[in-house]
Amino acid sequence: MPHPARRDALRALLAEAGEVDALLVTDLVNVRYLTGFTGSNASLLVGVDGRDAFCTDGRYTIQAAAEVPDLPAVIDRAGPAALVAVTVEGHAALADAAAPVPLHRVPGLVQRLREVKDADEVAALREACAVADTALGDLLAAGGLSPGRTERDVALDLEVRMRRLGATAPAFESIVAAGANAAVPHHRPTDAPLRRGDLVTLDFGALVDGYHSDMTRTVVLGPAAGWQRELYALVAEAQRAGCAALVPGADVRAVDAAARDVVAAAGEKENFPHGLGHGVGLRIHEAPGLGPTGTGALAAGMTVTVEPGVYLAGRGGVRIEDTLLVRDGEPEPLSRTTRELLEL
Ligand code: ZN
Ligand code: ZN
Repeated sequence: MPHPARRDALRALLAEAGEVDALLVTDLVNVRYLTGFTGSNASLLVGVDGRDAFCTDGRYTIQAAAEVPDLPAVIDRAGPAALVAVTVEGHAALADAAAPVPLHRVPGLVQRLREVKDADEVAALREACAVADTALGDLLAAGGLSPGRTERDVALDLEVRMRRLGATAPAFESIVAAGANAAVPHHRPTDAPLRRGDLVTLDFGALVDGYHSDMTRTVVLGPAAGWQRELYALVAEAQRAGCAALVPGADVRAVDAAARDVVAAAGEKENFPHGLGHGVGLRIHEAPGLGPTGTGALAAGMTVTVEPGVYLAGRGGVRIEDTLLVRDGEPEPLSRTTRELLEL
């Protein structure tokens, strides 16, 4: 089970910081990461002295015993307050002091750990990406992207396919954007029908074991026009440059620049209005952010997206996005769908 190892890693960070005796974790995603608990109410106390305690309410007594068998559970609706009270009672030095426990904020500690994925996390992400790949492959094979269908039909079709393949839910609100709508990076699917000649952008992912996948593909309905082919080639080149820059130690701004420079050299700098990518895991968007104002460097074991896009108002746009695992040498693409332009 990976959770005790994750708590030990956190304990080491706490000991290193040297300011606190215990960390109270209240963010549910962080609690899940450190314990495996998937319910909607929980908190966790991680002690530098090795004593951890977990708290949830009476609705989750059975679930907590099954999902968190290795920690003492405090069943109390008061949550964090109960957890601190119980722990202080059991802690001779604190009880003797008879003074309120001093509280400090230590933001970002668990998030920092979560940036580098362990083997169980990579396995879940790999499966989430595979589900999205298969769903798109099946949709295309079934003729699911044909003129006359609406953006909403296609989004629903993709989501049902992902659910049938084992996803608990879509990783986020799926984007299906056809024709001029493809020029809007975060377009919401409408009842607009797909038309022959349209660029169609699909940005979607699957949620598997709490982990999110994130992939974008842009296709053309019918033979591509010259400008569509050129635009696609440009974004594909920027995406390859961004992926090639994903090496341990790389500054996140340099990774962004590797792709952005390709777009800028083609005179389309203004039409690439978002960051290159983001970390992905228990949250769809998490650290590190790969953008012009990002901070920090990549490390082996991080999973990030690379998603350059160029958008031409009124005409359409192209975005190509993969989720990749940073490792020594070349990154491993977890999304496997072809990056060649598909003319349907
Ligand atoms: Zn995406
Ligand atoms: Zn993304």
